[in-house]
Amino acid sequence: MSTIAENIAEIEEQLQGKARLIAVTKTKPTEILQETYDAGFRRFGENKVQEMTAKYEALPKDIEWHMIGHLQSNKVKYMAPYVSMVHSVDQFKLLKEINKEAKKNDRIINCLLQIFIAEEETKFGLSETEAREILESEELASLNNIKIVGLMGMASNTDDNNKVRQEFSALKNMFESFKSYERENVEMNELSMGMSGDFPIAIEEGSTFVRVGSAIFGAR
Ligand SMILES: *Cc1c(COP(=O)(O)O)cnc(C)c1O
Repeated sequence: MSTIAENIAEIEEQLQGKARLIAVTKTKPTEILQETYDAGFRRFGENKVQEMTAKYEALPKDIEWHMIGHLQSNKVKYMAPYVSMVHSVDQFKLLKEINKEAKKNDRIINCLLQIFIAEEETKFGLSETEAREILESEELASLNNIKIVGLMGMASNTDDNNKVRQEFSALKNMFESFKSYERENVEMNELSMGMSGDFPIAIEEGSTFVRVGSAIFGAR
């Protein structure tokens, strides 16, 4: 069995410097995160605010924490002091709440709009139209403590690589077309797509962040 450090090194090699790796540590105990940290890795992704916050409190403070899971507005305050990036903004209401809590902490929090690109009904995210509504809204200009820095999406969970590639490619096209909305707090720099099963395809389609869990830590 290969170690966490070996798995990370192998994935980093496949990324060829094109995208940054987020180690998805959800459900893994703090000891595993510490082991990953000791191997030199600093970028972790979690999908639950309480779990991430408990780990944040227990671990060294130079870790970059990425929130990748569906969020409830009332939990935003717990991560606002330290979160690096929120990948899962799927409502304007949530963006306003992140802005409010970021302001209290005198921070600007980087956010990605999560776009629904898969076929499954279980996946969260905005439609292209809903995302455009947020990017076009006048109220967005008044949110000085958030910055929309790109998009996130999850492809369908299927063995059909062509389908996965089409979904990633569609997201990349949307990302490029959204550059016309760039302003003070909107900049399309980051495209978060690709997980253990599909990150090599995501890289080919222009991903800048891959979120990989089971390929590093084993099955959950
Ligand atoms: C769990 C999760 C991942 C990682 O999934 P793996 O298949 O274990 O790599 C990536 N993104 C999101 C949003 C997740 O919830």
